[in-house]
Amino acid sequence: MPTATIIGGSIAGLFTANALIQKGWNVTVHEKVESPLSGRGAGIATYDELADLVFKATGNNQVLGTKAKTRVSLDIKGNINSSYDYPQVYTSWQYLFSLLRNNIKNSKYFMNDDCIKIIQDDESATALFSNGKKKKSDLIIIANGMKSVIRKYVDQNAIPQYAGYVGWRGVVNEKDISVESLKILSEYFVIVLPFNQQIASYPIAGEGENPFDKGNRRINWIWYKPATEKDLKKLFLGKSGKQYKDGIPPNEILDQVLKQLLLEANNILPPQMYELIIKTSQPLIQPIYDLESNFMVNKRLITLGDAAFTARPHVGMGVTKAAIDAFTLSNSLSSNNYLNNLSKWEKNRIKAGKFLVNRSRELGIYLSKSMKNETLIMPDILNVLSDTAISLYEIKNHSID
Ligand SMILES: Cc1cc2nc3c(=O)[nH]c(=O)nc-3n(C[C@H](O)[C@H](O)[C@H](O)COP(=O)(O)OP(=O)(O)OC[C@H]3O[C@@H](n4cnc5c(N)ncnc54)[C@H](O)[C@@H]3O)c2cc1C
Repeated sequence: MPTATIIGGSIAGLFTANALIQKGWNVTVHEKVESPLSGRGAGIATYDELADLVFKATGNNQVLGTKAKTRVSLDIKGNINSSYDYPQVYTSWQYLFSLLRNNIKNSKYFMNDDCIKIIQDDESATALFSNGKKKKSDLIIIANGMKSVIRKYVDQNAIPQYAGYVGWRGVVNEKDISVESLKILSEYFVIVLPFNQQIASYPIAGEGENPFDKGNRRINWIWYKPATEKDLKKLFLGKSGKQYKDGIPPNEILDQVLKQLLLEANNILPPQMYELIIKTSQPLIQPIYDLESNFMVNKRLITLGDAAFTARPHVGMGVTKAAIDAFTLSNSLSSNNYLNNLSKWEKNRIKAGKFLVNRSRELGIYLSKSMKNETLIMPDILNVLSDTAISLYEIKNHSID
């Protein structure tokens, strides 16, 4: 039985593990974090192609989350001023993770395994971990996300690029939101475009019983705001005095930074969005990056998921792309001379990855320019409503594989 070592125990690693096990591979998954993963990315837009691949991976044929039929935008008073019908299901990262993880035996999933080095020869590849462990196998799948430090074994020039803006994020329980605001927030995917910015919200599963029922769900929001490298320094200065670089633990965010956020929310956002922000107990901030690779295969080493290509969130495609990477790979690996099939797989996935990264850059182009730039032209809201987070089947000139 051929063997694969998967580095990274999140969405891409788990899709790949499920897909390879189905093809008869002996797989182990190695995750650097010590305790179970939770709550990353919060809300995830889904598509039929993702639901199909979740079914293929896990046998789950239930609806993946909450549904909204229409996307709307609001004026500053909170009235709907544009709408676009696009029925869609929204799930949470946690829900998807649990489905995928429950399908993998505990004896095959290892936590506290931080891969620090990889070596390979003609016969095998070996992953070395900071805890002293070594794992030899036929293939190593590098699925350890955008910040991967072992991607260099496949493509040493693939480096994440800062997009020039941040996403402030949070979730609020429906039961904590006013009836007036819920009329909009629990019905629609909402996108509002303040100058040089975007804020979006949609309902996602709650955490208790009957998580998809109205009233039990949560509203997920993300507010994209431009931030220069200099701004990032200020945003990432912690209460403890520590200067963070790529992100800051939420409880370290300075009170004055949050106060400024609320002030601006009150001034430029519709009341429903302001309510979301003021009722979020601990907003998170995340600098937006993207990443492209020119190689995804080096003999017995393969990168996939965000470790190979990270598109900005506007395409809402990270999870779906990871699932497609995984299943197209497992198809390529199902014959005896599988190493020979990898270059075709690589070529196709690089094409798909570049397409998505470029599209996400186009969709986010107006978010990274400075407010002072008078030449900045904001997009038509109807285009934003109809282009954000849509199925690959609906993007013109694109085939899924
Ligand atoms: C704000 C936001 C909104 C988004 N919205 C959507 C959406 O609507 N739809 C959608 O499809 N996608 C969305 N995404 C993207 C999606 O969340 C990601 O594409 C997806 O989670 C990537 O999964 P991954 O497994 O490739 O990487 P990650 O989730 O980053 O996982 C990598 C894993 O590898 C582990 N790891 C790292 N280094 C090592 C090591 N050396 N050894 C062992 N383990 C290691 C990490 O701890 C981590 O668990 C969004 C992303 C953001 C930021």
